[in-house]
Amino acid sequence: MITEVLKPSELHKIDPVFGQMSFDNHEQIVFCNDKYTGLKAIIGIHNTVLGPALGGTRMWNYANEWEALNDVLRLSRGMTFKSAISGLNLGGGKAVIIGDSKIDKTPEMIKKFGEYVNSLSGRYITAEDVGTTTEDMDNIKSVTNFVTGISESKGGSGNPSPVTAYGVYMGMKAAAKFQFGTDNLSGKKILVQGIGHVGETLVQHLTNEGAIVKITDLNQMRLQEVSAKYGATIFGGADLYSANVDIYSPCALGATINDETINRLKAKVIAGAANNQLANDAVHGQILKDKGIVYAPDFLINAGGIINVYAEIVGYDSAEAMRRTENIYNTTLEILNFAKESNITTQDAAMRLAQKRIDERKKEIASK
Ligand code: NAD
Repeated sequence: MITEVLKPSELHKIDPVFGQMSFDNHEQIVFCNDKYTGLKAIIGIHNTVLGPALGGTRMWNYANEWEALNDVLRLSRGMTFKSAISGLNLGGGKAVIIGDSKIDKTPEMIKKFGEYVNSLSGRYITAEDVGTTTEDMDNIKSVTNFVTGISESKGGSGNPSPVTAYGVYMGMKAAAKFQFGTDNLSGKKILVQGIGHVGETLVQHLTNEGAIVKITDLNQMRLQEVSAKYGATIFGGADLYSANVDIYSPCALGATINDETINRLKAKVIAGAANNQLANDAVHGQILKDKGIVYAPDFLINAGGIINVYAEIVGYDSAEAMRRTENIYNTTLEILNFAKESNITTQDAAMRLAQKRIDERKKEIASK
């Protein structure tokens, strides 16, 4: 992919319209501008073979428009693979609104954005992301039905984080089974980096099972709280990457597995909620493979949130969402075995299986 070769500052070197879409054959990019509300948004529809393109709307103070465009292209592509590998009949899409959500966002602007979503007649379905809230989704709902993540009182699926945490827990157990021969995490030393919405519930599952959990976060108050609640130890060392643990669980931010950290890792399994954990999929995926560290692909094991949101579209209940999320265990094992048999990285294996599902569906549609 071109995006892995070019730096964001070099993106203007590509042809401005179809050159951008060909990053990874995006189907459609929609630029939304409204002078009355100040809305400047981009909707990226990467692929709709499996179904409508679903993905959240991020509001961010981008340094420039190229950065916003690059983000929406990258994120919408990621959603295609996340939904495909999770067995959902959804395509990949994402939207970005340019601006500071704390200063620039108004209900009128969000509603206007909803009207643009509506104009796509369901090819794109939106949801919450960084810089947007459940309240914003409720507001969007007043102008379009192509929105998920609305509040429970309005018939929505509620907070996705506990479901995401459960999926990460299932993925971690499967990776442990593959690496250690047992999925029992009792006695396993696990470092959870980031104990926010997802991390905290994950810590709860892990301590319930008897794992020896160490936690780290920038927020000292949360560390005290979560430690007291679940009996997890606050990590006190100077370098969390070289911590003597069995499992490292990144649940804070992306790209923590990079040139600086990868050779310091002692953990034998990596399984966490953060998006885009590998700074470079090909390079760092390969190094992990060579070092015998089992990496549970992030977009596979953190899919509980989208599985939960999918319930709003097809109308199943929260118990069914949990059952589907539990299946992340089986899918993870399938992918780890496939990677081993094919002598490829686990990230590559997950991408290939997701692409296979899309290709098969494409053939099915073409043969009708
Ligand atoms: P959150 O904002 O609630 O929690 C993130 C936590 O990480 C915060 O407590 C923050 O203080 C901490 N943190 C930030 N930078 C840190 C650093 N450098 N070192 C240690 N801790 C740091 O977010 P969340 O909803 O729990 O999501 C966690 C991760 O999982 C994010 O990367 C998110 O994109 C991803 N994710 C979340 C969901 C979901 O359903 N919430 C779904 C898929 C993926």
